[in-house]
Amino acid sequence: MRDLILSDLHANLQALDAALADAATIGYDRILCLGDLVGYGADPAAVVDRMAAIDHVVFVRGNHDKVCAGLDTADGFNDVARRSIEWTRDVLTPDRLAWIAGLPQGPRRVNDAVEICHGAPFDEDSYVFDAADAARALEAAGAPICLYGHTHVPAVFTTADAPARPDPAHADVLHLPASGSALVNVGSVGQPRDGDPRAAYGVLDLETRTVELRRVRYDVAAAQRRILEAGLPPWLGDRLSLGR
Ligand code: ZN
Repeated sequence: MRDLILSDLHANLQALDAALADAATIGYDRILCLGDLVGYGADPAAVVDRMAAIDHVVFVRGNHDKVCAGLDTADGFNDVARRSIEWTRDVLTPDRLAWIAGLPQGPRRVNDAVEICHGAPFDEDSYVFDAADAARALEAAGAPICLYGHTHVPAVFTTADAPARPDPAHADVLHLPASGSALVNVGSVGQPRDGDPRAAYGVLDLETRTVELRRVRYDVAAAQRRILEAGLPPWLGDRLSLGR
């Protein structure tokens, strides 16, 4: 079973389509979508329609999805995030808003080996940035492999005695430890923040116990144009070329 991991799509249709096209060349059985389908980007309707039309997707919601659907307030959002989510709510049809409102809360157990969440297994809105956050998340995880997003930065944490090891032949393929637990963030499809502007996604292979961290180039200029045309804050476009 090979699972495609998509997180933090953020209404970036150009990035999502590039990731899906790249993934189609390597093959997969199912998609695990870790939330934040909307917010920041200019194509929320198209991204929702794209994801809703695919069979075999296991979703959890993100914090932007919640605020967009009216399930949470934008109190924790900065000005740019608030303006973009208000714009998003205005342009989405009631049907699409209802679909977003129906996305399940994480953490969500996918099978005996895997759990997915947007922020952290102990709280869907918390960030896992450092070793202390990761220790708490590993403790709280309900399965040996916990996939998370929200920070937009790829990261792998494991219980101390068993690190993940890069494959000798493919540096982007990590072998997860045979015992102990692992916490994996494959990065963001639609708004990477690790300094690499390419769309980030992952492939989890439970048979080989590996995670592949993949990056794919997409038409950043087109996504930026869409943001400007929509009248969204220009910084939301500028940051896409920086990967910040
Ligand atoms: Zn996000």
